Amino acid sequence: MADTGSFLPYGKHCIEDDDIEAVAETLRSDFLTTGPKVDAFERRLAEITGAKHAIAVSNGTAALHLAAMALDLGPGDFVVVPTLTFLATANAARYVGAEVIFADVDPKTGLLTPDTLADALERGGGDVRAVFPVHLNGQTADMAALTATQGAGDLPFVEDSCHALGGKQATTSGTPAPVGSCADSAMTVFSLHPVKVVAMGEGGAITTNDDQIHDRIKRLRNIGMTRDPDTFQLAAQAFDEAGAANPWYYEMPELGFNYRASAIHCALGLSQLAKLDRFVAARNQLLARYRSGLTALSPLVEPLPVTSNLETGWHLCVVHIDFKAADTDRATVMNMLRENSVGTQVHYLPVHRQPYYQDRYGELSLPGADAYYESVLTLPLYVGMNDQDVDRVVRALGEALGL
Ligand SMILES: *Cc1c(COP(=O)(O)O)cnc(C)c1O
Repeated sequence: MADTGSFLPYGKHCIEDDDIEAVAETLRSDFLTTGPKVDAFERRLAEITGAKHAIAVSNGTAALHLAAMALDLGPGDFVVVPTLTFLATANAARYVGAEVIFADVDPKTGLLTPDTLADALERGGGDVRAVFPVHLNGQTADMAALTATQGAGDLPFVEDSCHALGGKQATTSGTPAPVGSCADSAMTVFSLHPVKVVAMGEGGAITTNDDQIHDRIKRLRNIGMTRDPDTFQLAAQAFDEAGAANPWYYEMPELGFNYRASAIHCALGLSQLAKLDRFVAARNQLLARYRSGLTALSPLVEPLPVTSNLETGWHLCVVHIDFKAADTDRATVMNMLRENSVGTQVHYLPVHRQPYYQDRYGELSLPGADAYYESVLTLPLYVGMNDQDVDRVVRALGEALGL
């Protein structure tokens, strides 16, 4: 076909020469893991998000696990998680022995809504201890409305912002704030996996305004160890007779993990964060091109409704497709697109339909999530695509749908 060019994956990182140089410089330095690059990455992320603290960790899944630990979630506790997300959001509750209450989502945006949250809270009875909303595709769930939902006001919220770094969101105070500011949450969690908006290889982060949560997560990501004499519990072995802390001494007051981010990864993350605004702008431009091109395929293909006019750090370009009306099915369309060098994906199979969760909770009826899942397709979106690439995807999609 005339259209066929180089393969366009649904997502891809953008690494430039200065990113490579930043990593090489760290490899020549004295610190390959904990040290100044990790600190600098954390400071920069705190500045970007406006949160008091940022903590770098080994990946987004670890960040979610640590967030669950920092809230003392455990057996007997219920955590509300929208079922339309990546596996890791729900798994975080299970890592600490808590149970997941899968919430339904809006069939068009895929986001947790006040109604679907209220339904989940009702199913959880009095045992819900936390809510983990997901800012799917980069669009933020309405935190002001969610935290105002009856019965949710006193619960800690953890925002899964793995898709949403670089965006802005509405807050209860009325002043928009960067995603990650934690204006209406206890913590916000990010992934810097290469397919996300910026890349650090494997990498993740947690932001918070709470000093105690910050101190605890820093300890938990480092096996649970502390070298801070002010926190030592066992004076007889910690201090000498004059009351000075023994120079070799450390304590483990609770069980942690090695979830540290290395300096090598943080050097890449720091270099990439400097490009965040440019990357977000490029993604928005490509999205705008898609939106105008896709009008030609309406009403069979509809872009996601835009939930707010705030800036969105678009992670994915998702469209709704009426496959039945086009007299085809999704697998056929995906295969035809692949033959035309266009990579697509589906984000996501609702997590409650995974065998692990079906075995645990049985079959649930979450019709909004099912409707979203049945009609979505993720089209290529990454920095490094150009307008011609977008046009090629739209043409290929039209052809695959017989338009
Ligand atoms: C990517 C992602 C995660 C997990 O991040 P990793 O860095 O891959 O562990 C969690 N939640 C969502 C919504 C994600 O997209």
